[in-house]
Amino acid sequence: MQAISKLAPYAADPENSIGRHHNEPIAMLINGMPVRNAFQRDRDRIIHSTAFRRLEYKTQVFVNHEGDLFRTRLTHSLEVAQLARGIARTLNLHEDLTEAIALAHDLGHTPFGHAGQDALNECMKNFGGFEHNLQSLRVVDKLEQRYAEFDGLNLTFELREGILKHCAIKNAKQLGDVGLRFINKTNPSLEAQVTNFADEIAYNNHDVDDGLRSGLITIAQLQQVELFAEQLAIVQSKYPNLEQKRLRHETIRRMINVLVIDLCTQTTKNIAKINPKNIDDIRLAQYLVSFSAEMTAKNLSLKQFLRKNLYQHENVKNMSNQAERIIRELFEKFLGDICLLPEEYKASAKADKARAVADYIAGMTDRFAIREYRRLFNLEGMVNISYR
Ligand code: MG
Repeated sequence: MQAISKLAPYAADPENSIGRHHNEPIAMLINGMPVRNAFQRDRDRIIHSTAFRRLEYKTQVFVNHEGDLFRTRLTHSLEVAQLARGIARTLNLHEDLTEAIALAHDLGHTPFGHAGQDALNECMKNFGGFEHNLQSLRVVDKLEQRYAEFDGLNLTFELREGILKHCAIKNAKQLGDVGLRFINKTNPSLEAQVTNFADEIAYNNHDVDDGLRSGLITIAQLQQVELFAEQLAIVQSKYPNLEQKRLRHETIRRMINVLVIDLCTQTTKNIAKINPKNIDDIRLAQYLVSFSAEMTAKNLSLKQFLRKNLYQHENVKNMSNQAERIIRELFEKFLGDICLLPEEYKASAKADKARAVADYIAGMTDRFAIREYRRLFNLEGMVNISYR
C-alpha cells in the first residue's frame, strides 16, 4: 500500500472518498489497519468481473485471431495501468486509483475495436446512441451481476468519475453525480487525468509496434515522424548493426520514456503554478496534466501518421467494413426478434429493446460475435475477419 504521507495533499484519498452508491462496511481490519483501501477494492472488483475477462478476446486494432502477439484490449489495459501507476507515483498521486481506472477504462468497448463501436453507435442513433465511455460506466454500475444487494460493482465515485472520460451533455444530465462535471465544466481528479494520458501514450506506441510487426507500416515510413526518427537515430548510432526486432523495441521504449518524462515535468510545472491545496482545487482548475507544447506537437504528428497509415490502411479498413457489417446485421436480427436474446437480456428488453440489444452486442468478444453471426445467418465456416 502506498504510504499516505507521500501522497500530495491534492491527490485522491480513499479515506475521504465521495463514496459508493450503496454503503458498505470498510474492509476487514488487521491491527487497526484496513486490509485494502477503497481504491484497491475497486481494482479487485474490476479484475474479478466478467467484462474484464472478455477484454482478452476483444480487438484493439487487429482482430484477436490475427496473431497471438498483437495487443488485445486486455494487454492494452495492462500497459495503460503500468504507465499510469509509474506517472502517479512520480507525481505523488494515488497509484491504486490510477491502476483501477486504467483496468476499467475499456470495459465498455464493443468487439472489433473502433469499427464495432462506430457501427453500434450508428445502429443506436434513433435510440440514444452508443458511447464506449458511457458503456464502461454502465458495465460497472449496472450490467455486472455479482452481488446479492445491488447491480453492478458499487465502485467509488472517484473510480466512476475516472472511467467517464467523455460524455455528451444530454447523457450527462441522466447520470447524476458523475455527470455533473460535464454540465459544470469542471475537471476530474489528477489520477483520472493521468490515466487518460497513459492510455494515449500506450496506444500510440503499441500501435507503432503492432503496425510494424504486421508489416502494414515500415520503419522507413516512420522516419517522417519526428518523435520516432529522433529515438531511432539515437539507437542506430549506439548500436549500428542491430537486428530489426531489437531496433524496433529499443526505439519504442525510448519514445515512451521521453513522453512520460515530458508529461511528468510539464504537469509538475502546471500544478506548481496554481498551488492546489486539495482535490477540490484540482476539480475547479483547468486540466492540469499535459505534455509541453513541443511534445504536444510531436505526439500529434505521431497520431496523424498512425491514422493515415495504419488505421486507414486499406487492409485495416477492409477488416473494419466486415466488422461493421457483422455488428449491424446482428443488431437488426436481435432487434427484430428479442426471443433470440439470452434470458437475462430478455427481461431488460421489455423496458428498452434497443438498449438491451446494444448491451448484449457490446459485451461480445470478437470470436463470439463471429460465432453468433454464423449461427444466426446459417453461415457455418463461412465468415472470418482478416486484415490480409
Ligand atoms: Mg484505451
